[in-house]
Amino acid sequence: MSRKAPNGSPAGGTVAVADPYAPQSGDPGYRVREYRLSLRYKVATNRLDGEATILAKALTPLRSVQLDLVGLTASRVKVDGAHPARYQQDQRRLTIRLPREVEAGQRFEVQVRYGGSPQPRNSRWGRVGWEELDDGVLVASQPVGAPTWFPCNDRVADKARYRIELTTEEAYTVIAPGTLKGRTSGSGRTTWTYVEEIPTATYLVSVHIGRYRSDPLAKPAVGALHYPAELRSAARATAPKLPAMVDLFQRCFGPYPLDRYDMVVTPDRLEIPLEAQGMATFGANHLDGSWESDRLIAHELAHQWFGNSVGLSRWRDIWLNEGFACYAEWLWSQASGGLSTHQQAKQHWTRIAALPQDLVLSDPGPDLMFDDRVYKRGALTLHALRRVTGDETFFKTLRTWTAEHAHTTATTGDFIALAERVAGWRLGGLFTAWLDQPELPRLPRRSEG
Ligand SMILES: [Zn+2]
Repeated sequence: MSRKAPNGSPAGGTVAVADPYAPQSGDPGYRVREYRLSLRYKVATNRLDGEATILAKALTPLRSVQLDLVGLTASRVKVDGAHPARYQQDQRRLTIRLPREVEAGQRFEVQVRYGGSPQPRNSRWGRVGWEELDDGVLVASQPVGAPTWFPCNDRVADKARYRIELTTEEAYTVIAPGTLKGRTSGSGRTTWTYVEEIPTATYLVSVHIGRYRSDPLAKPAVGALHYPAELRSAARATAPKLPAMVDLFQRCFGPYPLDRYDMVVTPDRLEIPLEAQGMATFGANHLDGSWESDRLIAHELAHQWFGNSVGLSRWRDIWLNEGFACYAEWLWSQASGGLSTHQQAKQHWTRIAALPQDLVLSDPGPDLMFDDRVYKRGALTLHALRRVTGDETFFKTLRTWTAEHAHTTATTGDFIALAERVAGWRLGGLFTAWLDQPELPRLPRRSEG
């Protein structure tokens, strides 16, 4: 690497650094504006070939850039459309030498031709990324799986637009984030073109390839319920609840932030459902009409506001995604005639009070990032805030949060500052107790005012 030290403040403000929770991912020296992926995939042989064009902007002066790419081989790299550029590839990334120094603030373009048999990568969070199903594919990348199918700057804070063109056998449906702009068939293959104009984090770019039927969904936006024919009745039984859920969340959180919402039910059983941009993925085992399946539907829908629209600047603030999505489950519980939100909170408080109190919510560490206590204590933190500030101020805080940080990224500090501004008084003590100390605080009494 021959990168020069940053010379003063780079374009866009503070100097970006590697995310301490995923230090081997991403290159903080630049931001991506847009990915253009042109891919050919054979389901029968799990063979992926393609070309990725990455439109980027330097944040520091650059002589070389890195792109994450795992398990696939680059065969040619070009910079700014010129002659093939020099590059090196190791197990995790491509290091590309730029033909000329790129100044901070300058735009540049990298084109990578690549291919191979994609598969999930091993990570401390398990196997993530492109995954073959019995008859198709799903992509579940959170948090570091995106490089298993396209070369990228795999940073949670680096949101970009996407154009994804994917050609595969015509028996399969392809579902990707954004709007379907084209679908053309010939010689037994179909090319699907999706365009996502809303800035999207790499881990939220999912692809589904399968033998899916699709029913349009009326709410929250354009979108569809996709399911294998054999799961038709179970999948369809869930759709009627969605409009009421959307109405509730729009009242509580503000307008639905994306252009579409797709629910995908895979033919395979999955360990957990997962959110993606404008999309949620459920396994065949997740939709049985029970409270457990309803809460998962609510949780993934709520991520469209918390995580997908208001994104993370760094992984340590993951409670801003998971605590909020979990609180949405408790709101839905009350609205749908189940336990009240307060009963849910008390029940979960009692449960996690019996667990080891060795987790600091504002910095749980990478190994505990997806620990259930992050979800539940995160939701309890919001409930505590609501008890102290009252319903009106609390929901105004949530709506202001989603409005002011829509389609960008934010930190815990940003949330505290905003909550204090909306409430009109200091809440530092409350947040310190819930976020920065391992002991579980008691739920506060409800404010009178
Ligand atoms: Zn979640």
